[in-house]
Amino acid sequence: MSGILQAIRGMSDILPDRTPAWQFVETVVREQLSAYGYREIRLPIVEKTELFKRSIGEVTDIVEKEMYTFTDRNGDSLTLRPEGTAGCVRACIQHGLLHNQVQRLWYAGPMFRHERPQKGRYRQFHQVGVEVFGLQGPDVDAELLLLTARLWRRLGLDGLELQINTLGTSEARAVYRERLVDWLRAREDRLDDDSRRRLATNPLRILDSKNPEVQSLLADAPRLEDHLDAGSKQHFAGLRALLDDAGLAYRINPHLVRGLDYYGRTVFEWVTDRLGAQGTVCAGGRYDALVEWLGGKPTPAAGFALGLERLIALLEDAGAVPPAAVPHVYLVLAGEAAARRGLVLAEQLREAVPGLRILTHCGGGSFKSQFKKADKSGAPLALVLGEDEIGSGQVGIKPLRGQGEQEHVAQDALVARLTELLTEL
Ligand code: ATP
Ligand code: MG
Repeated sequence: MSGILQAIRGMSDILPDRTPAWQFVETVVREQLSAYGYREIRLPIVEKTELFKRSIGEVTDIVEKEMYTFTDRNGDSLTLRPEGTAGCVRACIQHGLLHNQVQRLWYAGPMFRHERPQKGRYRQFHQVGVEVFGLQGPDVDAELLLLTARLWRRLGLDGLELQINTLGTSEARAVYRERLVDWLRAREDRLDDDSRRRLATNPLRILDSKNPEVQSLLADAPRLEDHLDAGSKQHFAGLRALLDDAGLAYRINPHLVRGLDYYGRTVFEWVTDRLGAQGTVCAGGRYDALVEWLGGKPTPAAGFALGLERLIALLEDAGAVPPAAVPHVYLVLAGEAAARRGLVLAEQLREAVPGLRILTHCGGGSFKSQFKKADKSGAPLALVLGEDEIGSGQVGIKPLRGQGEQEHVAQDALVARLTELLTEL
């Protein structure tokens, strides 16, 4: 048997040309979260299937049809995490991180969902997740939104729209759900298959339908906001006042419901029209009931997840990815003696010039072929060590961009001259 093996559909390799964009985002995210006092938590990729069934909800798309679930060698049912909140809450309860204390946490990594792969929708994708525990007021909801807005600014992104809504308490939603179902049942012939199925399982998600015909039908449907409890209304008004004070623009989207069961009160999404159908870059909200569902003491909580593939696609689309780092120096080594001296010289330079990026030529070859590689590397300078230089105890320095001439310096003057040239660049 032969043939070239391919990666699994919907699971992408991120090739070196694109990793600078990822590293840029990861660095900015890390800096910003740390500036707001959020601490990183690292969590397993595999959890017990039960965890996701209990937290995400049995009748959600994720648990019904998207999970990568398998039986391990002990006969336990395990699942590749489809999202990070469940595992984060599990870890916080398990390690007693929630007793009378506030936690501001974040994590990043791959998530797995068996969806139909398309632009912006993959089977392995990456999220940055941010979660806050122990704070019940709208101030922390506002903090999460201000933090994301700052993140977009730091990344050089504009044009993202913030949509917010409130789902009320689960009691308020239950009353509304019944009224909505009655209303929709009377118009079932105008629903698509997906919405008809949801009528029995998760009717609120019909509000979120991407089908324009369903959406136009919904324009006259009973409204969740008419069924809200007083506490949730007050919370939402508080959030809006804080966002107004901070000058953060938003749109109230009464049909925003989120795909996961555990949300209540505040929900939000950051949406762009530049990514086609998969326009939600970041989504989250409040989930005050989840800690208790998973066996902890009642603990208010809020958070969001940011989809890195979509965010990076947006950055690339906006031309906001900073250029990749190129080497400062390409070390050309002609002849056996130079090749031997070269590796040691490069180590000495790395020691003496912190942050120096130096690419040492390996594998021999003519001056000409080595200079070709030096050019291709993008380095602004070549250091040249040939037989002549070995004999005279010197090193050649040749600018690779622009017109400059090659110069020679004594090996013990090299660090000083190199530092000078690099600060000019
Ligand atoms: P959608 O309605 O697009 O399926 P969702 O409600 O399932 O989204 P969440 O579970 O809230 O999404 O995930 C948060 C974010 O993670 C999304 O807004 C998106 O940016 C990203 N995301 C979710 N699923 C995928 C996927 N399959 N591929 C790439 N990114 C994804
Ligand atoms: Mg989904």
